[in-house]
Amino acid sequence: MTVPDLPTTRVLIVDDNPEDREVFRRLFRRSAERRYEVLEAASGAQGLQMCGSELPECVLLDYKLPDMDGLEFLTRLAPLDRQHPIVPVVMITGVGNEDVAVRAMKSGAQDYLVKDGVTQASLQRAVQNAIERVSLNRRLEEQRRELQRSNRELQQFAFIISHDLKQPLATIKYNLHLLQRLAHERRTSEVDEVASAGMESVARMLELMNDVLEFSKVGGADAALEPVDLNSVLHEAVTNVSAVISQHGARVEADPLPMVLGHASGLTQLFQNLIDNAIKYRGSAAPLIRITTQSGPRAHQITIADNGIGIEPKDMECIFDAFQRPRRHSDFPGTGIGLCICKKVVERHGGRIWVESQPGAGSRFHFSLPADAAVSAAPPSANAPLADTTEAAHHAAPDPQSARR
Ligand code: ADP
Repeated sequence: MTVPDLPTTRVLIVDDNPEDREVFRRLFRRSAERRYEVLEAASGAQGLQMCGSELPECVLLDYKLPDMDGLEFLTRLAPLDRQHPIVPVVMITGVGNEDVAVRAMKSGAQDYLVKDGVTQASLQRAVQNAIERVSLNRRLEEQRRELQRSNRELQQFAFIISHDLKQPLATIKYNLHLLQRLAHERRTSEVDEVASAGMESVARMLELMNDVLEFSKVGGADAALEPVDLNSVLHEAVTNVSAVISQHGARVEADPLPMVLGHASGLTQLFQNLIDNAIKYRGSAAPLIRITTQSGPRAHQITIADNGIGIEPKDMECIFDAFQRPRRHSDFPGTGIGLCICKKVVERHGGRIWVESQPGAGSRFHFSLPADAAVSAAPPSANAPLADTTEAAHHAAPDPQSARR
């Protein structure tokens, strides 16, 4: 007869008394609905260390430990919780120590049990409730942050629409007014010129509105994250900008990139905007774009370096804001939304984007993405050109690996 797979919960018992630990272990073993993977620590210090290394789903904490009491344990657990998922704690107290238990709950414990009265049912209920409560709080906190973020975004949007769309609209109004006067005075020879100026403003306004729409389309907050191969993403981005790559004799070289958890479409847009900019803001030499990566246990850092005109220090802050572009770059095509979209994509993935640059010496755009051990393996590949003058335009290979060789 096969035993059905039971859901597993990983609990850590922190108690210096081996007999008590054995009692709890036995109670956990009796559960018919789930399997408990039980870890044990005989001191507070060992327990804290195991919270960091073993990532238990719940801690069963004896209040009286040889090296610290339960309250101190909770205080020392708090900074750890900022680095790891929050660990729910169920405090075990002696009879008559309920006031201590209440203080423990105020300090972050989810529940308490009185040692002598613990049964299999009460133990299991306390542990599962603690886990559910923490997970619910975490979801609430995420929703609160998401609300705050989207409120900020809405405010930014309102500002963009009222501020940046006003200018072309004012020009259109002025030109219509002028046309009215010209018609009135029958000065038809000037009509063409004024109408053209008006049309230019309409085109500019449409461009801005399209960009606002593009910006609003960068979603992902609600969609589930999927394993994404950044090599494929980069390949797609390069294919999308292959015409400009070809036109300016640009060369794109890339290290093998990792897998991440994310949204492929947003990440493609991210690479695309950065490569596009590296070519748009090129210097006198043919554009050379180097994409490198550094992977740590918690994050991958991707760098996109170019040999272009670079960025003035005073412009570094604002270039990631919507429709912000240095005045001296007003002759370049664009509206100033590209990097803002990049920032939004990276932040939606829980990362950060920043730039290092010197005028005349190129720019290095860096962004980080959280590493997920389960998906992070980088496929082996040589550090070879990904695209140059003609390759991407004419040989857009469907397989990201084949595009590198
Ligand atoms: P846009 O290119 O439409 O202005 P972006 O948001 O993509 O919008 O870029 C904002 C500004 O940042 C640009 O106007 C430019 O001044 C600067 N910038 C972006 N990428 C680069 C780069 N690779 N090299 C130099 N300057 C850059």
